[in-house]
Amino acid sequence: DRLKESKVYMRALFDYIPLEDKATPCQEAGLPFKRGDILQVVTQDDPTWWQAKRVGDSNLRAGLIPSKQFQERRLAYRMKMGTLPNPKSPKKSLCKPLVFCFFFLPICGLTVAGLRRSFRLSRKDRQGSSGEGSDPGEPEFLTYEEVTRYQQRPNERPRLVVLIGSLGARINELKQRVIAENPHRYAVAVPHTTRPKKPHEKDGVEYHFVTKQQFDADVLNNKFIEHGEYKENQYGTSIEAIRSVQAKNKMCIVDVQPEALKRLRTSEFKPYVIFVKPRGGEHGRVTVRHVSLSNLQEMRQSAIQIDQQYGHLVDRVLIKEDSASACAELRGILERLERESFWVPISWVR
Ligand code: 5GP
Repeated sequence: DRLKESKVYMRALFDYIPLEDKATPCQEAGLPFKRGDILQVVTQDDPTWWQAKRVGDSNLRAGLIPSKQFQERRLAYRMKMGTLPNPKSPKKSLCKPLVFCFFFLPICGLTVAGLRRSFRLSRKDRQGSSGEGSDPGEPEFLTYEEVTRYQQRPNERPRLVVLIGSLGARINELKQRVIAENPHRYAVAVPHTTRPKKPHEKDGVEYHFVTKQQFDADVLNNKFIEHGEYKENQYGTSIEAIRSVQAKNKMCIVDVQPEALKRLRTSEFKPYVIFVKPRGGEHGRVTVRHVSLSNLQEMRQSAIQIDQQYGHLVDRVLIKEDSASACAELRGILERLERESFWVPISWVR
């Protein structure tokens, strides 16, 4: 069946360092990977240790990775014990040649059953399963997400492009600029507002102007993907506003708070999520002129926070050097989205 053909691809939602994994039957046989890597799962025969290759890796041999079920179980266990799933401090590598451990992979396999026995947890320790669709109250275990290649066909509605930005990224400006260059291809979702219409404005163009009553009713009916208050007026972007852009066969670009991502990650919108970080807002030693040290720290902190909480939902990170280069990079991404294939959750295309 599907698994036997090894056409199973998973997006890793966590970093994995086999040399730091005490549970693995053979550290050298492990396949290290980073969150966001696409893994081709070659066998899922063993319920605890899968064999996988990293897509794009020139190494043709498969390595061991913890199965989804096993990874969930140990995260559940760590959560129960109150220990964070922090990677342990790096241990010294055993420094055996990789070839050696591939020879020994079958032997390692023999120990898997024993390890599983020693690590077995009761069913009630397993709380929920990872990811999408789980109850909001349930803990979410970031393990793997099954993905497939998807290319937008000409008769399909364009994918939604979602920009999230850390402090200082000024993503609205970026969005407006890219759209202004190509208004026949890209558009914003027209927001709703309760503020009075200005003389030069037209209803349905700059905003949908609505009463406070109407706005509150729409909030209650869950019509907005996000909403907020500014100078005592309400503003919000509705699901319908996105749909109406897509109905015109234009690519809709929204910039939202990352909390809105969960709501937008549906097969209908197939969002492509771009995380814009200002230069200096990422890790590393960068000197930025015109930005005070405390601002720089705030920028970094904001980027780290978003990365930790929402990084697994991000398709692409765009480091914003300056407006012009960020704009050019975004334009390039949007063009590729229309003609290339991308990994998306398999549930979006089934
Ligand atoms: P203005 O009333 O001048 O057109 O917009 C003022 C402010 O309203 C904007 O700078 C922005 O902070 C906020 N705003 C505009 N559109 C939206 C929206 O769709 N959602 C939210 N949350 N705020 C918005």
